[in-house]
This record gives sequence, C-alpha cells and structure tokens, in this order.
Amino acid sequence: MPNVEPLEPGVMFWAGRDDLAQMKALGVRCGQLGIPGDLELTEAAADEWKAALHREAFSLATVFAAYNGEDYADKPTVERTVGFIPQATREERERRTYAVSNFAERLGVWSIACHVGFVPEDASKSDYVEVRELVRRICDHAAARQQVFALETGQEPADVLLRFIYDVNRPNLRINFDPANMILYGTGDPIEAWSKLSPWVISVHAKDGDWPEKGVAGALGKERPLGHGSVGMERFVQALETSGFRGSLNVERETEDQAQRLEDMRSGIALIRQLTGR
Ligand code: MG
Repeated sequence: MPNVEPLEPGVMFWAGRDDLAQMKALGVRCGQLGIPGDLELTEAAADEWKAALHREAFSLATVFAAYNGEDYADKPTVERTVGFIPQATREERERRTYAVSNFAERLGVWSIACHVGFVPEDASKSDYVEVRELVRRICDHAAARQQVFALETGQEPADVLLRFIYDVNRPNLRINFDPANMILYGTGDPIEAWSKLSPWVISVHAKDGDWPEKGVAGALGKERPLGHGSVGMERFVQALETSGFRGSLNVERETEDQAQRLEDMRSGIALIRQLTGR
C-alpha cells in the first residue's frame, strides 16, 4: 500500500455503489470504505476487497459502518433512525459494528467509524448512559484488534461530543471530522470545532454544505460540491495545516446522481490539490 502524504486527497466511497478502479480513475490512491447495512460481510467478500486494494495499490484509512433503516431526511428523522440512539435497533447495530470491525481487521484496516446518532445533551438520560456503555464495548472490541473507533462529527456541538468522549474514557476512541456536518446540522462553525476537537481527530471528510434554512424547524442544510458551500475550504485546509494534521482529506459527496457525484468528487480532488499544493 502506498504511504499517504499529509493532506493528500482521498475519497469516501461505498461498497456496492462504487468500484475501486473507478475511484482510482479519479486520481487518488487512498480513501475510506463505507459498508451499507445490507452488505453481507463474509470472509470471502473481505478477501476480494483485500485483493482489489492490493491490485490497485490503494490505501484504506477507515472502514465506515452504516446501518439498515437509517434515514437522513431531516433532523427528527435522523434522531429517530440514525446510529445507536434508536432503542429498537441498538442491539442489532452493536452486533453489526462488531462484524464491520472484524471485516476491517481482515482487510488490515486499523480504524472503524460510524455516526452514533444524536448524543443526548442530558448525561443522566438512560439513552445517554446505554449508548456510552455500548460505545465502550465497541472500543474494547476494536482495541482487541488494534483498531481505533472514530465518531463522525456534526450531529451535536463540539462541546457535547467532547464531553461524551471524556465520559466514554477509552484510549482508542477518536473522531472522524466532517466540517460540512457541523453546518448541515447547524451545530457550530467547523473551524472553531476543529480547534476544540483536533487532538482526537484520526480522519477527515472533505465535504461542503450550506446552513439550514432559518425558521424551518428540524430542517437540515443542503450538501454542496466541495468549494461551493459555507465551510470555506481554504480556511479549513489552513486550520488543518496549522494544527499539523497528517492524514488524508477524503472527498465525500452523497448526491443521488452517480455521474454528477463522480464529477463533483473529481473537481473536489482538484480543489484540494490546488489548496494544498499536493
Ligand atoms: Mg461525513
């Protein structure tokens, strides 16, 4: 696998949707692999991915878990369906996360990540306590495989996430920082959040978006192609450089139209190269 340079552009891509050769054709050699909830995680599937990564000399930083039944339509829907907060699917998603961790181990990947969902602000709530215990168990499962477990940012303000991380209190708990999510969920300025969270950040999404429409309850902002939203990629890259972050910048684009998505990823990669000189 190639040695990835600091702030080298990479891609966030999905098993079952994206082809590795197609990602390589965008001009990158590193990224993060998302695993949809309905993908069968057999050893044969892991071995196929491992062979493809080797063949394409592609370096994988993270394996991301998504879960069946998640829906990102608006904030109340996210709250009801995403991550470990919904009680009805909590146990099943915990087991799925262990399976994703085992799958990543077979690929030789040392970081797993997911959206845990909206961490409740009130630490005395039973949902908070149960999710904290669950995250501890996932951290311990990952640690036994020399993996870190990263929480995706955005659904809660930086301070709430930070307090949760201190409370979980596991040395292998980290953050996957997504600057656009802070804006899409209206949880704070991403650069300010970066200054608080950067010591815990293991990986970064390069994604852009606009703030939610004012006065529309529960609305999410709109994701935009990189450089066309409110993150301010120039100041974001500058903040990463100043803090000495050495990981890759994984372009994430979630629009439905695949041809448009690939085009946006290609121009996002070009923007990162232009801003970083790499
Ligand atoms: Mg993201």
